[in-house]
Amino acid sequence: MSTPYDETALAELMERQGSGARYDAEQAPKRDLAWARSGTAYFLRKLRELSDRELDGPSLLGGWDRRELLAHVGYNARALTRLTEWARTGVETPMYVPGQRDAEIALGATLPALALRHLIDHSVVHLNVEWRDLTNEQWDHEVVTAQGRTVPVRETAWMRTREVWIHAVDLDNQGSYLDFPPELLDRLAGDVTTVWQRKKLDVDLVLAPTDRPGRTVVGQGGAVVSGRQADLVRWLTGRGARRLNAEGGELPDIPAWL
Ligand code: ZN
Repeated sequence: MSTPYDETALAELMERQGSGARYDAEQAPKRDLAWARSGTAYFLRKLRELSDRELDGPSLLGGWDRRELLAHVGYNARALTRLTEWARTGVETPMYVPGQRDAEIALGATLPALALRHLIDHSVVHLNVEWRDLTNEQWDHEVVTAQGRTVPVRETAWMRTREVWIHAVDLDNQGSYLDFPPELLDRLAGDVTTVWQRKKLDVDLVLAPTDRPGRTVVGQGGAVVSGRQADLVRWLTGRGARRLNAEGGELPDIPAWL
């Protein structure tokens, strides 16, 4: 299967679609966009397997049922769309105004099942159109995340990647980190330790994936935690420990990621 950044495949696609179609800019964050899109497809597939009645059931995220999770994923796409619009128009638009995020989740969760599914479908398409229309220069335009960080808008592709892949597992419908692309798992592991550093959290351990060469020393090093990379990343991102081995028997406590 070709990936969206396969040059030959792209050239063939442009040929087939003709001159009216639009494509990602040359300088777009192609790898992150490809992950965001494949993760969206994965999320939608898991969602389609759930009946409307099953949407009332719990998600893996403590305190949220699947409806609240769906509302969050839908309105997250809208919030990221506001950042892309900011980059495109230059008109400053916050990701969320104060209170908006929680209010949208609470209200969205009460929507009829069909409306909730439409929210996901439409918000996904809208975000994708916005990404496709950004120019090379606009991809570098700075925006502010919900956490108050100033970042180039290209970071929205990574922000969405994290959301769709991990929340697909949170749907608790047999989604698994074992389904994630290997490079995405590596990037997520790096993201977790980067966030810990940014927050100046002292975490000392050694990650020893059994299906990768080498080890990663975090902080000053410490207890060696080993297992498949998918299981390590599941644990690092706060989704529980499975099939992991810790030196000394007990897994070290780790802080929250996001
Ligand atoms: Zn989220």
